Amino acid sequence: QAEMAMHYVKERGKDNFQFYQRYIRTEHDDKLLMEKRLRLAAERNDFQLYYQPQIDLREKKVIGMEALLRWNDKELGTISPTKFIPLAEETGLIIAIGDWVLEEACAQAKAWFDQGHRLRIGINISPIQFQRPDFVNKVKHILEKTGLPASLLDLEITENVLLYNREECFKTLERLKQCGITISIDDFGTGYSSLSYLRRFPIDTLKIDQSFIREVLENSNDQAIVTSIIQLAHNMNLRVIAEGVETTAMVLFLNDRDCDEMQGYLYSKPLPAEVVTTFIQQTNPEEVLI
Ligand code: C2E
Ligand code: MG
Ligand code: MG
Ligand code: MG
Repeated sequence: QAEMAMHYVKERGKDNFQFYQRYIRTEHDDKLLMEKRLRLAAERNDFQLYYQPQIDLREKKVIGMEALLRWNDKELGTISPTKFIPLAEETGLIIAIGDWVLEEACAQAKAWFDQGHRLRIGINISPIQFQRPDFVNKVKHILEKTGLPASLLDLEITENVLLYNREECFKTLERLKQCGITISIDDFGTGYSSLSYLRRFPIDTLKIDQSFIREVLENSNDQAIVTSIIQLAHNMNLRVIAEGVETTAMVLFLNDRDCDEMQGYLYSKPLPAEVVTTFIQQTNPEEVLI
């Protein structure tokens, strides 16, 4: 757009300089405005958490929920986390937002627990949160404050988190494990790290990225990758979850290969907390899946 404007300026001469200036300022303003709105939202905790069920394929029942952040701004409308999370990371706002997510999701899981629903809660952790020296203490504090059993908390980190400060990472993971918290590797297979971290770091679950699942029935390379990840996980005593499961045919494929869990639109999109319990009571995974 700026290039187009530049061209326009050259063509039409100096008279249009003002037009050009206004043009590029707009793009910059977009980001500044979003940052300003995000800062405001972070101050007021003006977000929602949605929860997506995770199904145990052998037991055919919901065993966990992944908390997914939603931001609906009065001025900007609904903005995808794939857009505002990177901005939150860039600006440092992810610390405040991430604290809120942790506490809100743990409190929600505790409320379900008190209602008799033993649901594990999966929470996405940004590398910036994970690398903070006070991260483990913060998580412990939130578990104490909310009363959620540590065994119901699963932290999702990406492979890239493990690339830097390996010693520190290792210690952080060990301390979390000692509390009884489990660790999942999110978007597995899409990061930059080598597989060697799998044998070094104490992790529990691999989440196969949805990009490998999307065309798994048509694409023989994806089939090989998914089959291999499941085998690799099981050979290392890790659990494995497939993300982005949208069809029954995909479930059959994953069942055949002994995948442990699945998550995706086939069973449910992410849901607001208020409807989660009624939804899982009324929708039997057995009927939906196969
Ligand atoms: P993710 O953690 O890999 O989450 C899975 C994403 O896939 C979610 O997108 C979910 O809504 C979507 N999804 C689930 N099932 C299906 C399906 O069957 N088909 C398709 N096409 N998509 C499906 P969402 O909610 O837009 O989140 C995007 C990403 O934003 C997340 O990817 C995660 O990396 C990040 N994110 C979301 N909430 C948080 C948060 O609280 N903290 C941090 N740090 N990151 C978050
Ligand atoms: Mg995730
Ligand atoms: Mg993922
Ligand atoms: Mg993702």
